[in-house]
Amino acid sequence: MIKPKKMRFYGLKNLEEVLNAHHVSQEEIFATKVVANVLPFRTNNYVVDELIDWNNIPDDPMYQLTFMQKGMLKDEHFNKMADLVRNDAPQEQIKNLANEIRLELNPHPAGQLTANVPFLEDEDEPVRGVQHKYKETCLVFPSAGQTCHAYCTFCFRWAQFVGMNDIKFATDESKRFQKYLSQHKEITDVLFTGGDPMIMTYEKLKAYIEPLLSPEFEHIRNIRIGTKSVSYWPYKYVTDKDATDILHLFERVVAAGKHLAIMGHYNHWVELTTNVAREAVRNIRNTGAEIRTQSPLIKHINDDPDVWATMWKEQVKLGAIPYYFFVERDTGAVEYFAIPLAEAYDIFRKAFTQISGLGRTVRGPSMSAMPGKVAIEGITEIHGEKAFVLNFLQARNPDWVKRPFFAKYDEKATWLHHLKPAFGQKRFFFQDELDAMVAAKEEEFKKVSSFGAA
Ligand SMILES: *Cc1c(COP(=O)(O)O)cnc(C)c1O
Ligand code: SF4
Repeated sequence: MIKPKKMRFYGLKNLEEVLNAHHVSQEEIFATKVVANVLPFRTNNYVVDELIDWNNIPDDPMYQLTFMQKGMLKDEHFNKMADLVRNDAPQEQIKNLANEIRLELNPHPAGQLTANVPFLEDEDEPVRGVQHKYKETCLVFPSAGQTCHAYCTFCFRWAQFVGMNDIKFATDESKRFQKYLSQHKEITDVLFTGGDPMIMTYEKLKAYIEPLLSPEFEHIRNIRIGTKSVSYWPYKYVTDKDATDILHLFERVVAAGKHLAIMGHYNHWVELTTNVAREAVRNIRNTGAEIRTQSPLIKHINDDPDVWATMWKEQVKLGAIPYYFFVERDTGAVEYFAIPLAEAYDIFRKAFTQISGLGRTVRGPSMSAMPGKVAIEGITEIHGEKAFVLNFLQARNPDWVKRPFFAKYDEKATWLHHLKPAFGQKRFFFQDELDAMVAAKEEEFKKVSSFGAA
Protein backbone atom coordinates (compact mmCIF):
# COMPACT_ATOMS: atom_id res chain seq x y z
CA MET A 1 0.00 0.00 0.00
CA ILE A 2 1.20 3.45 -0.87
CA LYS A 3 0.75 6.10 1.78
CA PRO A 4 -0.93 9.32 0.67
CA LYS A 5 1.32 12.37 0.57
CA LYS A 6 0.19 15.90 1.18
CA MET A 7 1.62 18.17 -1.47
CA ARG A 8 4.01 20.89 -0.41
CA PHE A 9 5.57 23.26 -2.90
CA TYR A 10 8.96 24.81 -2.20
CA GLY A 11 9.79 28.15 -3.80
CA LEU A 12 12.37 30.88 -3.43
CA LYS A 13 11.05 31.56 0.09
CA ASN A 14 11.77 28.07 1.46
CA LEU A 15 14.80 27.32 -0.67
CA GLU A 16 17.24 27.98 2.14
CA GLU A 17 15.28 25.97 4.67
CA VAL A 18 15.13 22.91 2.41
CA LEU A 19 18.80 22.99 1.51
CA ASN A 20 19.90 23.61 5.08
CA ALA A 21 17.87 20.63 6.22
CA HIS A 22 19.92 18.50 3.83
CA HIS A 23 23.26 19.98 4.88
CA VAL A 24 24.04 21.61 1.57
CA SER A 25 27.02 23.98 1.75
CA GLN A 26 26.37 27.69 2.31
CA GLU A 27 28.20 28.49 -0.92
CA GLU A 28 25.93 26.20 -2.92
CA ILE A 29 22.83 27.59 -1.20
CA PHE A 30 23.84 31.13 -2.01
CA ALA A 31 24.46 30.34 -5.68
CA THR A 32 21.11 28.57 -5.99
CA LYS A 33 19.36 31.54 -4.42
CA VAL A 34 21.01 34.02 -6.78
CA VAL A 35 19.94 32.09 -9.89
CA ALA A 36 16.46 31.41 -8.49
CA ASN A 37 15.90 35.16 -8.37
CA VAL A 38 16.11 35.17 -12.17
CA LEU A 39 14.85 31.79 -13.38
CA PRO A 40 11.67 30.35 -11.87
CA PHE A 41 12.26 27.96 -8.98
CA ARG A 42 9.77 25.45 -7.70
CA THR A 43 10.12 21.96 -6.34
CA ASN A 44 8.03 19.82 -4.00
CA ASN A 45 8.24 17.40 -1.11
CA TYR A 46 8.09 14.29 -3.34
CA VAL A 47 11.05 15.40 -5.46
CA VAL A 48 12.97 16.41 -2.33
CA ASP A 49 12.09 13.40 -0.15
CA GLU A 50 11.96 10.58 -2.68
CA LEU A 51 13.77 11.43 -5.92
CA ILE A 52 16.89 13.35 -4.98
CA ASP A 53 19.89 11.45 -3.63
CA TRP A 54 21.19 13.99 -1.12
CA ASN A 55 24.50 12.12 -0.79
CA ASN A 56 25.27 13.08 -4.37
CA ILE A 57 24.94 16.87 -4.34
CA PRO A 58 25.29 18.82 -6.61
CA ASP A 59 25.76 16.16 -9.32
CA ASP A 60 22.62 14.18 -8.64
CA PRO A 61 20.48 14.38 -11.80
CA MET A 62 17.23 14.82 -9.84
CA TYR A 63 18.83 17.69 -7.94
CA GLN A 64 20.00 19.30 -11.20
CA LEU A 65 16.48 18.90 -12.51
CA THR A 66 14.85 21.38 -10.11
CA PHE A 67 17.61 23.16 -8.18
CA MET A 68 19.43 25.99 -9.90
CA GLN A 69 23.17 25.94 -10.42
CA LYS A 70 25.60 28.83 -10.68
CA GLY A 71 26.49 27.95 -14.28
CA MET A 72 22.91 28.47 -15.40
CA LEU A 73 23.57 32.20 -15.61
CA LYS A 74 26.40 33.94 -17.43
CA ASP A 75 29.12 35.09 -14.98
CA GLU A 76 28.26 38.72 -15.70
CA HIS A 77 24.59 38.20 -14.84
CA PHE A 78 25.35 36.00 -11.87
CA ASN A 79 27.77 38.49 -10.34
CA LYS A 80 25.36 41.40 -10.68
CA MET A 81 22.57 39.49 -9.00
CA ALA A 82 24.92 38.06 -6.38
CA ASP A 83 25.86 41.60 -5.33
CA LEU A 84 22.23 42.54 -4.80
CA VAL A 85 21.38 39.36 -2.90
CA ARG A 86 24.50 39.58 -0.73
CA ASN A 87 23.68 43.17 0.22
CA ASP A 88 20.02 42.47 0.88
CA ALA A 89 19.02 44.97 -1.78
CA PRO A 90 15.37 46.12 -1.90
CA GLN A 91 12.99 43.73 -3.68
CA GLU A 92 12.25 46.35 -6.31
CA GLN A 93 15.90 46.50 -7.34
CA ILE A 94 16.22 42.71 -7.47
CA LYS A 95 13.10 42.48 -9.59
CA ASN A 96 14.31 45.09 -12.05
CA LEU A 97 17.63 43.36 -12.54
CA ALA A 98 15.91 39.99 -12.87
CA ASN A 99 13.68 41.35 -15.64
CA GLU A 100 16.64 42.91 -17.41
CA ILE A 101 18.50 39.58 -17.41
CA ARG A 102 15.41 37.62 -18.47
CA LEU A 103 14.93 39.80 -21.51
CA GLU A 104 18.53 39.14 -22.52
CA LEU A 105 18.01 35.41 -22.22
CA ASN A 106 15.81 35.66 -25.28
CA PRO A 107 12.59 33.86 -24.51
CA HIS A 108 10.18 33.15 -27.38
CA PRO A 109 11.28 34.86 -30.55
CA ALA A 110 8.34 36.90 -31.82
CA GLY A 111 7.59 34.47 -34.64
CA GLN A 112 6.95 31.63 -32.25
CA LEU A 113 4.27 33.64 -30.52
CA THR A 114 2.22 34.24 -33.60
CA ALA A 115 3.10 31.74 -36.30
CA ASN A 116 1.01 28.89 -34.91
CA VAL A 117 -1.95 30.74 -33.45
CA PRO A 118 -5.14 30.21 -35.46
CA PHE A 119 -8.25 32.30 -36.15
CA LEU A 120 -11.91 31.38 -36.13
CA GLU A 121 -13.78 31.60 -39.40
CA ASP A 122 -15.20 35.09 -39.93
CA GLU A 123 -13.44 36.50 -36.90
CA ASP A 124 -10.44 38.77 -36.57
CA GLU A 125 -9.57 37.76 -33.05
CA PRO A 126 -7.07 34.90 -32.74
CA VAL A 127 -7.94 31.86 -30.63
CA ARG A 128 -5.68 32.35 -27.67
CA GLY A 129 -4.26 29.32 -25.95
CA VAL A 130 -4.31 27.25 -29.13
CA GLN A 131 -1.49 26.39 -31.48
CA HIS A 132 -2.20 24.72 -34.76
CA LYS A 133 1.06 24.02 -36.52
CA TYR A 134 0.65 20.55 -37.98
CA LYS A 135 -2.49 19.80 -39.96
CA GLU A 136 -3.90 16.93 -37.91
CA THR A 137 -2.89 18.01 -34.41
CA CYS A 138 -4.02 20.96 -32.35
CA LEU A 139 -2.30 22.06 -29.14
CA VAL A 140 -4.42 23.47 -26.32
CA PHE A 141 -2.96 25.38 -23.35
CA PRO A 142 -5.62 25.46 -20.60
CA SER A 143 -5.15 28.58 -18.49
CA ALA A 144 -5.35 26.63 -15.22
CA GLY A 145 -2.63 24.30 -16.46
CA GLN A 146 0.09 26.88 -17.01
CA THR A 147 2.15 25.88 -14.02
CA CYS A 148 3.79 22.59 -12.91
CA HIS A 149 4.31 20.42 -9.82
CA ALA A 150 7.94 21.51 -9.98
CA TYR A 151 9.90 23.55 -12.52
CA CYS A 152 12.60 21.95 -14.62
CA THR A 153 15.73 24.06 -14.59
CA PHE A 154 16.13 23.56 -18.34
CA CYS A 155 12.56 24.39 -19.33
CA PHE A 156 12.17 26.47 -22.47
CA ARG A 157 8.81 27.65 -21.16
CA TRP A 158 10.39 29.31 -18.13
CA ALA A 159 9.36 32.77 -19.35
CA GLN A 160 5.69 32.05 -18.83
CA PHE A 161 6.27 31.04 -15.19
CA VAL A 162 7.74 34.44 -14.40
CA GLY A 163 4.81 36.18 -16.05
CA MET A 164 6.49 37.19 -19.29
CA ASN A 165 4.33 35.42 -21.89
CA ASP A 166 1.44 33.98 -19.98
CA ILE A 167 -1.54 35.67 -21.64
CA LYS A 168 -0.40 34.66 -25.08
CA PHE A 169 -0.51 30.97 -24.39
CA ALA A 170 -3.29 30.51 -21.91
CA THR A 171 -6.99 30.10 -22.49
CA ASP A 172 -9.98 29.92 -20.27
CA GLU A 173 -12.06 30.61 -23.33
CA SER A 174 -12.77 26.93 -23.70
CA LYS A 175 -15.84 27.69 -25.80
CA ARG A 176 -13.73 29.40 -28.44
CA PHE A 177 -11.21 26.60 -28.67
CA GLN A 178 -14.09 24.13 -28.95
CA LYS A 179 -15.60 26.20 -31.73
CA TYR A 180 -12.28 26.17 -33.54
CA LEU A 181 -12.04 22.39 -33.22
CA SER A 182 -15.56 21.89 -34.49
CA GLN A 183 -14.81 24.09 -37.52
CA HIS A 184 -11.75 22.05 -38.43
CA LYS A 185 -12.62 18.51 -39.35
CA GLU A 186 -9.06 17.83 -40.49
CA ILE A 187 -7.95 17.85 -36.84
CA THR A 188 -7.80 14.30 -35.49
CA ASP A 189 -5.60 14.89 -32.45
CA VAL A 190 -5.93 17.32 -29.58
CA LEU A 191 -2.91 17.68 -27.34
CA PHE A 192 -3.42 19.37 -23.98
CA THR A 193 -0.20 20.92 -22.82
CA GLY A 194 1.17 23.61 -20.50
CA GLY A 195 2.87 24.03 -18.10
CA ASP A 196 1.28 20.83 -16.99
CA PRO A 197 -2.45 20.23 -17.56
CA MET A 198 -2.39 17.54 -14.86
CA ILE A 199 -1.84 20.22 -12.24
CA MET A 200 -5.52 21.01 -12.79
CA THR A 201 -8.15 19.63 -10.47
CA TYR A 202 -10.47 16.94 -11.74
CA GLU A 203 -13.25 19.48 -12.25
CA LYS A 204 -11.12 21.78 -14.41
CA LEU A 205 -9.67 18.93 -16.43
CA LYS A 206 -13.10 17.46 -17.00
CA ALA A 207 -14.37 20.79 -18.34
CA TYR A 208 -11.74 20.67 -21.07
CA ILE A 209 -11.92 17.00 -21.96
CA GLU A 210 -15.47 15.82 -21.54
CA PRO A 211 -17.06 18.07 -24.21
CA LEU A 212 -14.77 16.43 -26.77
CA LEU A 213 -16.61 13.15 -26.25
CA SER A 214 -19.82 14.50 -27.79
CA PRO A 215 -20.84 13.69 -31.42
CA GLU A 216 -19.89 17.19 -32.56
CA PHE A 217 -16.25 16.17 -32.07
CA GLU A 218 -16.40 12.80 -33.74
CA HIS A 219 -13.44 13.80 -35.93
CA ILE A 220 -11.24 14.08 -32.82
CA ARG A 221 -9.97 10.51 -32.57
CA ASN A 222 -7.03 10.95 -30.26
CA ILE A 223 -6.64 12.97 -27.09
CA ARG A 224 -3.20 13.47 -25.65
CA ILE A 225 -2.15 15.05 -22.40
CA GLY A 226 1.44 16.21 -22.13
CA THR A 227 2.50 15.93 -18.50
CA LYS A 228 5.39 15.62 -16.12
CA SER A 229 3.11 14.76 -13.20
CA VAL A 230 3.91 11.06 -13.67
CA SER A 231 7.40 11.96 -12.53
CA TYR A 232 6.92 15.00 -10.27
CA TRP A 233 3.67 14.04 -8.57
CA PRO A 234 2.57 10.45 -9.33
CA TYR A 235 0.21 10.61 -6.33
CA LYS A 236 -2.14 12.37 -8.74
CA TYR A 237 -3.01 8.89 -10.05
CA VAL A 238 -2.70 6.92 -6.82
CA THR A 239 -3.67 8.52 -3.51
CA ASP A 240 -4.68 12.14 -4.17
CA LYS A 241 -8.27 13.02 -3.32
CA ASP A 242 -9.24 13.34 -6.98
CA ALA A 243 -7.16 10.35 -8.20
CA THR A 244 -10.16 8.06 -8.61
CA ASP A 245 -12.17 10.71 -10.44
CA ILE A 246 -9.25 11.38 -12.79
CA LEU A 247 -8.87 7.68 -13.57
CA HIS A 248 -12.62 7.39 -14.19
CA LEU A 249 -12.43 10.34 -16.56
CA PHE A 250 -9.69 8.53 -18.48
CA GLU A 251 -11.95 5.45 -18.61
CA ARG A 252 -14.81 7.50 -20.03
CA VAL A 253 -12.57 8.87 -22.78
CA VAL A 254 -11.57 5.34 -23.73
CA ALA A 255 -15.16 4.07 -23.48
CA ALA A 256 -16.21 6.84 -25.87
CA GLY A 257 -13.99 5.18 -28.44
CA LYS A 258 -11.10 7.64 -28.37
CA HIS A 259 -7.44 6.90 -28.01
CA LEU A 260 -6.15 8.57 -24.86
CA ALA A 261 -2.38 9.04 -24.70
CA ILE A 262 -0.65 10.34 -21.62
CA MET A 263 2.55 11.87 -22.99
CA GLY A 264 4.75 11.30 -19.96
CA HIS A 265 7.79 13.49 -19.55
CA TYR A 266 10.57 11.43 -17.95
CA ASN A 267 14.16 12.65 -18.02
CA HIS A 268 15.92 9.86 -16.13
CA TRP A 269 15.27 6.27 -15.05
CA VAL A 270 15.43 7.35 -11.39
CA GLU A 271 11.96 8.86 -11.88
CA LEU A 272 10.64 5.34 -12.45
CA THR A 273 12.17 3.72 -9.40
CA THR A 274 9.67 4.69 -6.70
CA ASN A 275 6.69 2.49 -5.92
CA VAL A 276 4.29 5.36 -6.39
CA ALA A 277 5.67 6.21 -9.85
CA ARG A 278 5.21 2.60 -10.95
CA GLU A 279 1.77 2.40 -9.45
CA ALA A 280 0.81 5.56 -11.34
CA VAL A 281 1.83 3.91 -14.61
CA ARG A 282 -0.18 0.79 -13.76
CA ASN A 283 -3.26 2.77 -12.76
CA ILE A 284 -3.20 4.90 -15.89
CA ARG A 285 -2.76 1.88 -18.14
CA ASN A 286 -5.59 0.08 -16.37
CA THR A 287 -7.96 2.79 -17.59
CA GLY A 288 -7.18 1.82 -21.18
CA ALA A 289 -5.04 4.91 -21.75
CA GLU A 290 -1.59 4.50 -23.25
CA ILE A 291 1.52 6.16 -21.90
CA ARG A 292 4.02 7.48 -24.42
CA THR A 293 7.21 9.01 -23.12
CA GLN A 294 9.41 11.89 -24.14
CA SER A 295 12.36 13.89 -22.92
CA PRO A 296 14.97 16.31 -24.10
CA LEU A 297 18.65 15.46 -23.91
CA ILE A 298 20.15 17.64 -21.19
CA LYS A 299 23.70 18.04 -20.00
CA HIS A 300 24.20 17.22 -16.29
CA ILE A 301 20.96 15.21 -16.25
CA ASN A 302 20.88 12.56 -18.96
CA ASP A 303 23.84 13.07 -21.32
CA ASP A 304 24.82 9.42 -21.13
CA PRO A 305 23.59 6.65 -23.45
CA ASP A 306 23.28 4.20 -20.56
CA VAL A 307 20.86 6.49 -18.74
CA TRP A 308 18.59 6.50 -21.78
CA ALA A 309 18.89 2.79 -22.49
CA THR A 310 18.05 1.97 -18.87
CA MET A 311 15.13 4.40 -18.90
CA TRP A 312 13.66 3.05 -22.14
CA LYS A 313 14.02 -0.57 -20.99
CA GLU A 314 12.24 0.26 -17.76
CA GLN A 315 9.47 2.10 -19.61
CA VAL A 316 8.90 -0.75 -22.03
CA LYS A 317 8.76 -3.22 -19.15
CA LEU A 318 6.10 -1.13 -17.44
CA GLY A 319 4.16 -0.86 -20.70
CA ALA A 320 5.00 2.75 -21.53
CA ILE A 321 6.00 3.48 -25.12
CA PRO A 322 9.16 5.55 -25.81
CA TYR A 323 8.18 8.29 -28.26
CA TYR A 324 10.46 11.34 -28.60
CA PHE A 325 14.11 12.12 -27.84
CA PHE A 326 14.38 15.90 -28.16
CA VAL A 327 17.27 18.25 -28.63
CA GLU A 328 16.95 20.97 -25.99
CA ARG A 329 15.93 24.36 -27.39
CA ASP A 330 18.29 27.28 -27.23
CA THR A 331 16.61 29.50 -24.68
CA GLY A 332 17.22 30.17 -20.99
CA ALA A 333 20.27 28.50 -19.50
CA VAL A 334 21.49 27.40 -22.93
CA GLU A 335 25.18 27.28 -22.28
CA TYR A 336 24.74 25.15 -19.21
CA PHE A 337 22.54 22.54 -20.86
CA ALA A 338 23.25 22.56 -24.60
CA ILE A 339 24.77 19.56 -26.32
CA PRO A 340 26.08 19.72 -29.91
CA LEU A 341 23.90 17.92 -32.46
CA ALA A 342 26.76 15.60 -33.39
CA GLU A 343 27.08 14.48 -29.78
CA ALA A 344 23.29 14.21 -29.38
CA TYR A 345 23.23 11.86 -32.34
CA ASP A 346 26.04 9.80 -30.87
CA ILE A 347 24.29 9.46 -27.50
CA PHE A 348 21.00 8.55 -29.17
CA ARG A 349 22.61 5.90 -31.35
CA LYS A 350 24.55 4.35 -28.50
CA ALA A 351 21.38 4.10 -26.44
CA PHE A 352 19.14 2.97 -29.30
CA THR A 353 21.46 0.09 -30.20
CA GLN A 354 21.15 -1.31 -26.67
CA ILE A 355 17.40 -1.92 -26.69
CA SER A 356 15.03 -4.30 -28.40
CA GLY A 357 12.60 -3.33 -31.12
CA LEU A 358 9.83 -2.68 -28.60
CA GLY A 359 11.70 0.43 -27.45
CA ARG A 360 12.78 1.52 -30.91
CA THR A 361 9.50 3.35 -31.30
CA VAL A 362 11.45 6.33 -29.99
CA ARG A 363 12.40 8.96 -32.58
CA GLY A 364 15.17 11.49 -32.49
CA PRO A 365 17.27 13.33 -31.87
CA SER A 366 14.54 15.75 -32.86
CA MET A 367 14.52 19.54 -32.97
CA SER A 368 11.13 21.26 -32.73
CA ALA A 369 12.02 24.16 -34.97
CA MET A 370 10.12 26.73 -37.03
CA PRO A 371 9.63 24.52 -40.12
CA GLY A 372 8.82 21.38 -38.13
CA LYS A 373 10.31 18.54 -36.14
CA VAL A 374 13.65 17.79 -37.73
CA ALA A 375 15.45 14.58 -36.80
CA ILE A 376 19.12 13.86 -37.23
CA GLU A 377 19.01 10.51 -38.97
CA GLY A 378 22.73 10.10 -39.38
CA ILE A 379 26.15 11.50 -40.06
CA THR A 380 27.57 10.48 -43.40
CA GLU A 381 30.35 11.23 -45.84
CA ILE A 382 29.74 11.44 -49.57
CA HIS A 383 32.62 12.13 -51.98
CA GLY A 384 34.74 13.44 -49.15
CA GLU A 385 32.16 15.87 -47.71
CA LYS A 386 30.88 15.10 -44.25
CA ALA A 387 27.19 15.84 -43.68
CA PHE A 388 24.23 15.46 -41.36
CA VAL A 389 21.36 13.47 -42.81
CA LEU A 390 18.18 15.25 -41.70
CA ASN A 391 14.52 14.35 -42.01
CA PHE A 392 11.23 15.94 -41.04
CA LEU A 393 9.20 13.87 -38.56
CA GLN A 394 6.52 16.53 -38.69
CA ALA A 395 6.33 19.64 -40.88
CA ARG A 396 4.27 22.74 -41.55
CA ASN A 397 3.70 21.27 -44.98
CA PRO A 398 3.10 17.51 -44.54
CA ASP A 399 4.67 17.00 -47.95
CA TRP A 400 8.12 17.84 -46.51
CA VAL A 401 8.03 14.77 -44.26
CA LYS A 402 10.32 11.83 -45.08
CA ARG A 403 12.39 13.67 -47.68
CA PRO A 404 15.94 13.28 -46.42
CA PHE A 405 18.09 16.40 -46.79
CA PHE A 406 21.67 17.25 -45.99
CA ALA A 407 23.47 19.85 -43.92
CA LYS A 408 27.21 20.45 -43.73
CA TYR A 409 28.67 18.63 -40.78
CA ASP A 410 29.37 21.06 -37.97
CA GLU A 411 30.83 19.72 -34.78
CA LYS A 412 29.68 22.72 -32.72
CA ALA A 413 26.17 23.30 -34.07
CA THR A 414 23.47 22.91 -31.41
CA TRP A 415 20.36 23.88 -33.40
CA LEU A 416 18.90 23.86 -36.89
CA HIS A 417 19.61 27.54 -37.55
CA HIS A 418 23.33 26.86 -37.13
CA LEU A 419 23.26 24.45 -40.07
CA LYS A 420 24.06 25.19 -43.73
CA PRO A 421 23.00 23.06 -46.69
CA ALA A 422 25.61 20.58 -47.89
CA PHE A 423 26.78 19.55 -51.37
CA GLY A 424 26.69 23.00 -52.96
CA GLN A 425 22.98 23.67 -52.26
CA LYS A 426 22.19 27.34 -51.50
CA ARG A 427 19.08 26.84 -49.40
CA PHE A 428 17.27 23.94 -47.78
CA PHE A 429 14.51 22.61 -50.03
CA PHE A 430 11.69 23.93 -47.82
CA GLN A 431 13.09 27.40 -47.12
CA ASP A 432 11.31 29.45 -49.80
CA GLU A 433 7.97 27.91 -48.99
CA LEU A 434 8.51 28.40 -45.26
CA ASP A 435 9.41 32.08 -45.72
CA ALA A 436 6.18 32.60 -47.66
CA MET A 437 4.12 30.84 -44.99
CA VAL A 438 5.59 32.92 -42.16
CA ALA A 439 5.10 36.16 -44.10
CA ALA A 440 1.45 35.30 -44.80
CA LYS A 441 0.85 34.64 -41.11
CA GLU A 442 2.44 37.93 -40.14
CA GLU A 443 0.07 39.73 -42.52
CA GLU A 444 -2.86 38.05 -40.83
CA PHE A 445 -1.66 39.30 -37.45
CA LYS A 446 -1.10 42.88 -38.58
CA LYS A 447 -4.87 43.15 -38.75
CA VAL A 448 -5.15 42.53 -35.02
CA SER A 449 -2.89 44.97 -33.24
CA SER A 450 -3.97 43.74 -29.79
CA PHE A 451 -1.95 40.59 -30.32
CA GLY A 452 1.40 42.25 -31.01
CA ALA A 453 4.69 41.51 -29.31
CA ALA A 454 4.61 41.86 -25.52
C1 LIG B 1 5.25 17.60 -31.68
C2 LIG B 1 4.14 18.48 -31.96
C3 LIG B 1 2.89 17.96 -32.30
C4 LIG B 1 2.61 16.48 -32.35
O1 LIG B 1 3.31 15.84 -33.41
P1 LIG B 1 3.24 14.28 -33.55
O2 LIG B 1 4.24 13.95 -34.62
O3 LIG B 1 1.84 13.94 -33.95
O4 LIG B 1 3.61 13.69 -32.23
C5 LIG B 1 1.89 18.86 -32.59
N1 LIG B 1 2.08 20.21 -32.56
C6 LIG B 1 3.28 20.73 -32.24
C7 LIG B 1 3.45 22.23 -32.23
C8 LIG B 1 4.35 19.90 -31.93
O5 LIG B 1 5.53 20.44 -31.61
S1 SF4 C 1 7.17 20.11 -16.30
FE1 SF4 C 1 7.32 20.68 -18.48
S2 SF4 C 1 6.50 22.76 -18.63
FE2 SF4 C 1 6.89 22.31 -16.46
S3 SF4 C 1 8.93 23.11 -16.07
FE3 SF4 C 1 9.20 20.97 -16.63
S4 SF4 C 1 9.52 20.95 -18.86
FE4 SF4 C 1 8.69 22.96 -18.30
